[in-house]
Amino acid sequence: MANEQPILISGAGPVGMITGLLLAQQGIPVKLFDSLAEIPADHRAATLQPPTLHMLEESGITASLLPRGIKSPLFQFRDRLSGEVVTEFDFGLLRDETPHPFALQIEQHKTVGAAYEIAKKLDTFEVHRPYDVIAVGQDADGVEITVRAPDGSEEKHRGPYLIGCDGGRSIARKSQNIDFPGFTWEERFIIVATRFDFAAADGFRFRNYVAHPDQWCALMKVPGEEDEGVWRCLFPAMTDEPDEAVISDEWIQARYLECLPYEAPYEIVHRNLYSVHQRVAASFRKGRVILAGDAAHVNNPIGGMGMNSGIHDGINLAEKLVLILRGDGTEDLLDLYDRQRRPMANKYVQAQSIRNKEVLQEPDPQARQRQFDEMRATTADKEKHLTYLRNASLLAMVNEANSIT
Ligand SMILES: Cc1cc2nc3c(=O)[nH]c(=O)nc-3n(C[C@H](O)[C@H](O)[C@H](O)COP(=O)(O)OP(=O)(O)OC[C@H]3O[C@@H](n4cnc5c(N)ncnc54)[C@H](O)[C@@H]3O)c2cc1C
Repeated sequence: MANEQPILISGAGPVGMITGLLLAQQGIPVKLFDSLAEIPADHRAATLQPPTLHMLEESGITASLLPRGIKSPLFQFRDRLSGEVVTEFDFGLLRDETPHPFALQIEQHKTVGAAYEIAKKLDTFEVHRPYDVIAVGQDADGVEITVRAPDGSEEKHRGPYLIGCDGGRSIARKSQNIDFPGFTWEERFIIVATRFDFAAADGFRFRNYVAHPDQWCALMKVPGEEDEGVWRCLFPAMTDEPDEAVISDEWIQARYLECLPYEAPYEIVHRNLYSVHQRVAASFRKGRVILAGDAAHVNNPIGGMGMNSGIHDGINLAEKLVLILRGDGTEDLLDLYDRQRRPMANKYVQAQSIRNKEVLQEPDPQARQRQFDEMRATTADKEKHLTYLRNASLLAMVNEANSIT
């Protein structure tokens, strides 16, 4: 198949890179284009969920990442007002349902890098950066994209399909006039990373959520660039202050003093402020243009589901494209991709990530107490706990999506 026109992929983030790798490993030529000169090393998603690790085994990504990540079976939920640990959820209980009964804490750019290291050795894989996809057209036989090369010149590339993995502002999606309904949260989220050890200081686990009516926070441990261990703290910025004020040392140290007063001042090794959206594309496919990852759906990061569900899109889609290109399936499979992935994005990732945020910031004291009681009752009952874990890990979503015909 190496002489065939390549499948085109806009975007070489986690979803584009992994989808490209999976296709290339099956002998399908792929050509990726990304606007950025290199893989960005900023702090974004930090968690690989159990089914993602399982589904990426064959590609070699899981074996490359397991020794480098932090295995985190437990995640903790705290109430900041009372200071108590409400309960702890344990992915270890999923040991009969998945070979990896834990979340793997590892920075997003290492996941992308691991996929790239495997892919770059394949003749069927090409990535071009920094190349901007600036226009997308399609006809009955294929897709034609226009890209802007680093010297400013424009090139055209053709392929049988374009997979739009170009993030929330996807040109692939916009070029096909596919709606992206949903909403944007009023507050922005700020991720601040420090080497301070919250586990040693106060018994935090490697993944933690701390509830509070307005100053809630989430804490995750990731390996760091030199395996020194870095804690990423996520705070909402509930103000209309300008970005420069919110990312200032003063603002960040004030949040720490209020939410996590174990050290002052904290050494800050990274900061990242961003707007958060909840949106799902009206269709994941228009003809020969197919959307995956953030191009198709975006959500808040609480629960670590966005990048994982995007990777699941890519795995699902790559399997179908291989069948189509080998003549073992028809383009109806692309409609099946939409039927399997789009409703599930709404049912699981949107519903759950919105709910996770509401629980963290519930303002009504009685409702808060009820929620905490429910959480404790969930972890006290093995079946309820397992149901919760299947949803939180996205196992239930993957299983339900795959059962749709
Ligand atoms: C600032 C920030 C912080 C985040 N923090 C968290 C977090 O803490 N936890 C969490 O779970 N999730 C987080 N997320 C979400 C998570 O990073 C995404 O779900 C994940 O990156 C989706 O992967 P993707 O490959 O679909 O898209 P992206 O990672 O967005 O990759 C898209 C790629 O497409 C490229 N691209 C875009 N337009 C074009 C174009 N026209 N031509 C060529 N290339 C193009 C971009 O350069 C990029 O490399 C965060 C996202 C952002 C933006």
